[in-house]
Amino acid sequence: MLNITDLHATVADKPILNGLTLSVPAGEVHAIMGPNGAGKSTLAYVLGGRPGYEVTAGSVTLDGADLLAQEPHERAASGLFLGFQYPVEIPGVSSMQFIRESLNAQRRARGEAELSGAEFIRLAKAEAGELGMDVEMLKRPVNVGFSGGEKKRAEMVQMGIMRPRFAVLDETDSGLDIDALRIVGAGINRIMRAPDRGVLLITHYQRLLDYVQPNRVHVLTAGQITRSGGPELAHELERGGYAEVA
Ligand code: ADP
Ligand code: MG
Ligand code: MG
Repeated sequence: MLNITDLHATVADKPILNGLTLSVPAGEVHAIMGPNGAGKSTLAYVLGGRPGYEVTAGSVTLDGADLLAQEPHERAASGLFLGFQYPVEIPGVSSMQFIRESLNAQRRARGEAELSGAEFIRLAKAEAGELGMDVEMLKRPVNVGFSGGEKKRAEMVQMGIMRPRFAVLDETDSGLDIDALRIVGAGINRIMRAPDRGVLLITHYQRLLDYVQPNRVHVLTAGQITRSGGPELAHELERGGYAEVA
């Protein structure tokens, strides 16, 4: 489903990704772990097409299509969803407006009919309810005044509404207390665990992987995948640390 081959990328002319190769088949969740500064967030930004993150070599395909040739909005319309380590605040735009506009833009790009206001609100209520979030929160400006945990939850509500084919989730567990972690973990499973979907779950900690059990775990060190294994690798890392294990 997602194929990354020998990916090299620079930020401000500094090489950050140095030949990263990784495949996530449809129906699987793969975790990426690694020390701070390894390039995990950079990988997420490169996949999303964020300006300033320059790909200097390599390829990325999603369902066989050349992802790197697409504009960020085209990638989203192709079914790619990004959850950010540091979600942005957008004063003046409510989450409802933002998500509805994003959803309808994607539906138009795919030649599907837009959702009416009433249909959208019904959907938003249902998804917010699943994530234990009051839909009233989504009437506030995007992420403004949200706690770290609320931002992550709101992001999962957005993912539930968008129903992407592939999600790259960057430290979705950061800022979550243990109850929120369970709810968000269950949300990821409910929304994304399907034979035709896939997830790249970037995390520092094993604890999220207790809820969202990965098919594979990869260690990213200095811009490359240095080790891959089954779920047990995450436990090994938790015990031994990156220096010893990877
Ligand atoms: P991780 O998510 O694994 O902690 P990042 O991808 O955030 O790592 O960062 C990888 C490296 O790239 C770090 O050394 C970081 O300082 C550098 N980096 C990230 N963004 C920028 C930027 N905008 N300008 C310069 N260096 C950056
Ligand atoms: Mg970091
Ligand atoms: Mg990061």
